[in-house]
Amino acid sequence: MKLRFAPSPTGLLHIGNARTAILNHIVAKKNNAELIIRVEDTDRERSSIESENAILEDLKWLGIKWTEGPDCVGNYGPYRQTERYSIYKEYTEKLLKEKKAYHCYCSKEELDEMRAIADKEKRPFSYPGKCRNLSDEQKKELEAKGIKPTIRFRVPENEIVTINDKIRGKISFNSDHIGGDFIIVRSDGHPIYNYIVTIDDTLMKVTDVIRGEDHLPNTPKQILVAKALGLPEPSYAHMPLIVGADRAKLSKRHGITSVRLYKEEGYLPEAIVNYISLLGWSPEDGEEIMSEEKLIETFELSKIAKSAAVFDFQKLKWMNAIYIRNYDLEKITDLFIPYIQEAGYNTETINKEELNKIIEIIRGNCEILSDIKHWIPMFLDDICKPDEKTDKFLQNEESKIVIKAAYESIKSSVNSENYVSELIPAIKTASSQKGKKLFWPIRGIITGRLSGPEMDLALPVIGFEKCVKRITYYFEKYCN
Ligand code: GLU
Repeated sequence: MKLRFAPSPTGLLHIGNARTAILNHIVAKKNNAELIIRVEDTDRERSSIESENAILEDLKWLGIKWTEGPDCVGNYGPYRQTERYSIYKEYTEKLLKEKKAYHCYCSKEELDEMRAIADKEKRPFSYPGKCRNLSDEQKKELEAKGIKPTIRFRVPENEIVTINDKIRGKISFNSDHIGGDFIIVRSDGHPIYNYIVTIDDTLMKVTDVIRGEDHLPNTPKQILVAKALGLPEPSYAHMPLIVGADRAKLSKRHGITSVRLYKEEGYLPEAIVNYISLLGWSPEDGEEIMSEEKLIETFELSKIAKSAAVFDFQKLKWMNAIYIRNYDLEKITDLFIPYIQEAGYNTETINKEELNKIIEIIRGNCEILSDIKHWIPMFLDDICKPDEKTDKFLQNEESKIVIKAAYESIKSSVNSENYVSELIPAIKTASSQKGKKLFWPIRGIITGRLSGPEMDLALPVIGFEKCVKRITYYFEKYCN
């Protein structure tokens, strides 16, 4: 068994394509098979090397491993389609010679007109085969006019093409209903995906194609090309699409759709791989948090639901939070560091042990790594300014009683030796407040937030000096 992921480098890695890559990776690992990357870059206007690099980088970030591809040595390369044109040319000549393909001189205008008539008659467009049987003289005449032909595949009539899809089961197409003779080489010499994909899969020894259902209408064309060239057909598995909550195809309108943006916001690759694997599939024991090893062990391609999978952004976030909470502390601290820097702090000057302690306390409040920006000031600022909600809350009279009590406490019994155990009881006694009326203002003046980590865990990390500065600041701000 050999699998492939074949991205078109026309933008960032979309979450739908990431799913194709992830499932190929899991199936490859499960079967001890190879996974290769082939870059399908024949759309010259939309493809770029920057996009290819970004896609490969994001695939690596997700933990996907391949044994052949444009960035590594392999026996069946090159792995960019634009570098394989001489290979395709031989096949095209063979098809032309055997009259399984032919030159087509129809202009864009003519084809547009044919399409318009089909639209008017409310039938799907099918190329009527105008250039199917041109004589050599006719061709010469047209070429003399400077018309550059396309090459079309001669679709056999009334042939039933059957796919035994590993997810969808048996699907049959009649060759009369696939749009007529289709173009395999454009007039500018660039070959078309539906044609060369089959050649590449054969030459690269790919046995199994796992891809999105949006490619299903292409499959009969690819099979017909394989048959015409006498090439083996790979086995197919077409995954149902991913949709938003409104059941429309997942798009930017629903939320983040590119892996790069998830990475930038601070999602962990492990969480993304875990969540994406669960789209349309779930393990029998119902345990959703799964290591890659367990995924590989339990995943069953044939058990993927045939209906579209709804992408639940909240659930991915929830899962990410669990991964953050359970990650190795040293490693997750390193992953948080860039976000702390983005918040304006020079992490070089902070002791790593200190940083680990902070992260240990606060990671439970971060669903994504960038959430740290909201919490980190409470540990690193001398005086952490209140957020809007806290500011409003501290202005009420009952809060002020607590602020005054806190100020009195640090001026009398509470000191750097006893503050961790004594500060809160001292404020309680001096203010005679309890419950939320006591704890919310204390949290507010010590951390600038009304929610957050346990105070008895936060206090030792914040330190007495900062507590004094903050209590003094809030006392002057609200009680003077
Ligand atoms: N290059 C195609 C795409 O990015 C994938 C083709 C295939 O998997 O056969 O959609």
